[in-house]
Amino acid sequence: MEHDIIIIGGGPSGLSTALHLARDFPHLTQRILILEKARYPRFKLCAGGLVIDAEIILQRLGLDVSEVPHVDADNIHFDFEAKGLDIRVPKHHALRVIRRDEFDNWLAKKAETRGLEIREGVTVKNILPYEDHVTVETDQGNFAAQVVVGADGSNGVTRRCIFPNVPVHTARVLEILTQVTASPAAQQGRRGQAYFDFFPVTNNIAGYVWDFPTQVDGEMMRCWGIYDTNMLANEKRPPLKEPLAKEMSRLGYDLEKYEIKGYPIRWFSPENQMSVPHLLLVGDAAGADPFLGEGISIALAYGALAAREIGEAFQRSRFSFNGYRHRVLRSALGQVLCARWFVARVVYSLKWKWFQILVWRILKPVVVLLAWIFLLNWGKRL
Ligand SMILES: Cc1cc2nc3c(=O)[nH]c(=O)nc-3n(C[C@H](O)[C@H](O)[C@H](O)COP(=O)(O)OP(=O)(O)OC[C@H]3O[C@@H](n4cnc5c(N)ncnc54)[C@H](O)[C@@H]3O)c2cc1C
Repeated sequence: MEHDIIIIGGGPSGLSTALHLARDFPHLTQRILILEKARYPRFKLCAGGLVIDAEIILQRLGLDVSEVPHVDADNIHFDFEAKGLDIRVPKHHALRVIRRDEFDNWLAKKAETRGLEIREGVTVKNILPYEDHVTVETDQGNFAAQVVVGADGSNGVTRRCIFPNVPVHTARVLEILTQVTASPAAQQGRRGQAYFDFFPVTNNIAGYVWDFPTQVDGEMMRCWGIYDTNMLANEKRPPLKEPLAKEMSRLGYDLEKYEIKGYPIRWFSPENQMSVPHLLLVGDAAGADPFLGEGISIALAYGALAAREIGEAFQRSRFSFNGYRHRVLRSALGQVLCARWFVARVVYSLKWKWFQILVWRILKPVVVLLAWIFLLNWGKRL
């Protein structure tokens, strides 16, 4: 076998797995191959909001994300019908917003300078797990490896090959970029702030609309979007873009004037399967945060856990990975994912207006405390 470890997908989860392996098990560095179907810098639909935990995980890898063009939001608003609560991080921004083409390109270059091999423009077509290795079929020939990591995102081929009949939970997500100048008066109060408004829940859209500051090629922009877990998919719902259009129009923007893009997010549920012998899933392939659809810090954290699992498997020459899911669930990452899965089920199933007002306006101190524990500040415990 030419390589011992093949990582399918060079997004945050795949690159984090490789970077953690190179840091903690340096003798494996030359034996890792990352296969990426696109070429960097490649487009990835994402609002690019990094919570502090993503920065903590990157810092521990010796990486400073401030090298990537970014805009910082001082606070995050969780609102219901434009009124709600603020979350701040003492002496720190609450959310750092990057563009994914720039961020992933930066991370890939860091991986390469640490001796990791990335082959770009290679699309994986099929995965065949055998008793003692895994064959990876691509549009440029076949590869065999002792260990394969499926880091190929929400629509990834790896998960579909190894768990073809397992039901998946996917959220629907739409995103729009606008200039800031469209309605300066309305935008005044929003500069440097990230907004979530949960008003669509009362219309059976189990999620929220968002509005983040961002930049594209140095120009200040806003990134808008709507997230729907699909937890209320059996109820009557308006078209997904309707609540987004309503929120944008409140702030003086006409949704119809902008390009709208959509992509699913596969979310975590405690019963999600994550491995078979010789193969592990990470990032969206294993399951992102169901509550907010936040997945970058989560993807980076999966990488840390998978690297530990793989390094120890090589030390013991045992590749069953049958304890991986259990160890993910018991880790700080698993705890935060389980907590958010539970919160999503409560907040999105109790969809009445009075309940949403209770959560986002009346129970403010409790919610801020819970958000601090479960949404932020878990990366240190990884
Ligand atoms: C609209 C939208 C907004 C979002 N906003 C945020 C946000 O603000 N903050 C946040 O934290 N998260 C956000 N997310 C979620 C976040 O984008 C994902 O959770 C994150 O990208 C997961 O990283 P990953 O490495 O697992 O997968 P990905 O980032 O999807 O990377 C997968 C990689 O695998 C490659 N690949 C796929 N198939 C193959 C194949 N067959 N062969 C070879 N390579 C392959 C892809 O090209 C890609 O590079 C958002 C998602 C969406 C859709």
